[in-house]
Amino acid sequence: MRLFLKLFALGSIAAALLALHMSEPTFNIESLKGARVLLTGASTGIGEQIAYHLAKAGAQIVITARRSNVLEEVVQKCMAMGAQKAMYIPADMSVPSDPEKVVRFAEEHLGGLDYLVLNHIGPSPFAIWDGDVEHTRWLMQVNFLSYLQMAWKAIPTLEQSKGSIIVVSSLLGKMCTPFVGPYTATKFALNGFFGTMQHELAMKKSNVTVSICILGLIDTDSAMEKVRGYTNMTAYPASEAAWQIIKAGATRQPEAFYPWYTYYTSLIKDWFPSYRNMVIQGLYNYEP
Ligand code: NAP
Repeated sequence: MRLFLKLFALGSIAAALLALHMSEPTFNIESLKGARVLLTGASTGIGEQIAYHLAKAGAQIVITARRSNVLEEVVQKCMAMGAQKAMYIPADMSVPSDPEKVVRFAEEHLGGLDYLVLNHIGPSPFAIWDGDVEHTRWLMQVNFLSYLQMAWKAIPTLEQSKGSIIVVSSLLGKMCTPFVGPYTATKFALNGFFGTMQHELAMKKSNVTVSICILGLIDTDSAMEKVRGYTNMTAYPASEAAWQIIKAGATRQPEAFYPWYTYYTSLIKDWFPSYRNMVIQGLYNYEP
């Protein structure tokens, strides 16, 4: 009888969590028409796909990354897809003055800002850590500190437009796995920092919201190249990830998850730690 009650209670909790997860806010694509968006890391991967969704919705976009020639091509495609405006500014987020320069450019050229989408990441190896502290320091600037600089610079403008900051993060900012030490450190830092910012903005009764997007493995070229030979985990489509990210920001969700398993993994990851670690280590091919 006791076991039955326990199972019943667990089942009810699971059903309630599922219902909660499924009850997504409604999203009207029309709300993005004319929206002024600054998007980072838009030359490739998920950022590029975000740019195309925004363009189809008729948004006004400033995109950035390091490679001008690739950004130029993305801008041209965005205009062909229906963007009201599309511009780019090349910037290297490892240069401490570049993040603010980019925000200034977007605010001036768009006449304000409705969304700041922070998505870029610097390259990092997929390997057992080799003690390279300098690379980790560099990556903290690119993947973490530049996000803070851009957010802080943009908040006064976003305040005027009741705007949103979208932070593209990862399940690896919530859970430790092998081969990604510096990367995972930057993502934990992002989740912690922007989680605090969500509290502080709410307590200040700010108009600005922060949406943190927790992604699993996505089929971008850079991610696929990294994990090749290490794991057979399913990678989910970048275009769909991009859509979920936009939706999270437009509906002002504090936290969004894609694909589905990232939500449940985040919930239960600490229940059985030794079993969890065994499963994680079993996902990768590695011979010492
Ligand atoms: P990606 O394809 O590697 O793209 C990274 C982007 O950042 C590129 O546009 C790149 O352009 C730019 N970038 C690199 N170094 C830069 C620098 N120093 N300064 C400015 N821009 C720089 O990445 P992705 O796979 O699409 O990932 C996008 C986001 O999703 C990231 O935040 C990532 O953590 C998150 N995510 C991805 C996965 C996945 O499996 N793909 C999983 C979880 C979370 P340039 O080279 O032209 O600068």
